[in-house]
Amino acid sequence: MIQITTPLNFLGSMYRDIRQALVDMDEMFHLLEQPAEVTDRPGAKPLEVLGGEIVFDRVEFGYDPERPILKGLSFRVAPGQRVAVVGSSGAGKSTIGRLLFRFYDVTGGAIRIDGQDIREVTQESLHARIGVVPQDTVLFNDTVGYNIAYGRDSATQAEIEAAAKAAHIHDFIMRLPQGYQTQVGERGLKLSGGEKQRVGIARTLLKDPPILILDEATSALDTATEADIQEELHDMGQGRSVIVIAHRLSTIADADRIVVLEDGRLIEEGTHDALLARGGRYAELWSRQTREEEMAA
Ligand code: ADP
Ligand code: MG
Repeated sequence: MIQITTPLNFLGSMYRDIRQALVDMDEMFHLLEQPAEVTDRPGAKPLEVLGGEIVFDRVEFGYDPERPILKGLSFRVAPGQRVAVVGSSGAGKSTIGRLLFRFYDVTGGAIRIDGQDIREVTQESLHARIGVVPQDTVLFNDTVGYNIAYGRDSATQAEIEAAAKAAHIHDFIMRLPQGYQTQVGERGLKLSGGEKQRVGIARTLLKDPPILILDEATSALDTATEADIQEELHDMGQGRSVIVIAHRLSTIADADRIVVLEDGRLIEEGTHDALLARGGRYAELWSRQTREEEMAA
């Protein structure tokens, strides 16, 4: 993971703009490493989210033209559904999130939200309607309240506290020396991974987007914290269309649908039970993880 706080401090007046852009993607998108080649089309309209249907339609993409990463990937997230994407490391799971956020444009096929090709809508409107809870939430060197409200300047203290309560971080904040005014980040109080993730969840709850991308990395946390956070992430998904990028399969067994990615293609798709019964790649990943967890226990 790159250290975002340090380079940002040297960017002077660009700091605010980049921070603004970062609020939703955080480290997940490695903003500072990416060329700004995606721009709004002339006459681009705001995205209109109705139910929040997401369609990947024969999507092709590679960071480098010589090396395709997604090779004709198709799947659909029905309005309000929770779809998990699984596959081995490097399969292209996080790339799906980056493409949906239109951090890059697809090189073939299309991504549509409620029937609108995301290349045809303004990026501002797209980013406003997608919330990302990344693997590692970035905290700004400011108060914890500011960090939760980030990206919604108009939020009232009551709204901030309601979001913090829903993310199970309010009580913790109230015990800090200066409550919501406590300085956090590199130059303030350092929060644990679990606490940072709760701040990220509160931030996303306050934003209240109809579409969510969860790039889970709760495996670094202790089991109790992980279970708590899983529950929070799960609650947050109610009534939204959610793509969960799953690292630990036990956390997505109840997803509406599981998409298994391998070498840039969808190789299996179905519910947990159906995929286990199929005895294919998912079943193999599942039994491997179960074995590993038993050995670690
Ligand atoms: P996953 O999340 O499934 O582990 P990713 O979607 O992050 O995989 O990455 C898929 C492939 O794309 C990997 O081989 C990775 O090395 C490569 N990749 C990811 N990000 C970049 C990038 N910014 N530039 C070049 N290659 C990348
Ligand atoms: Mg990933």
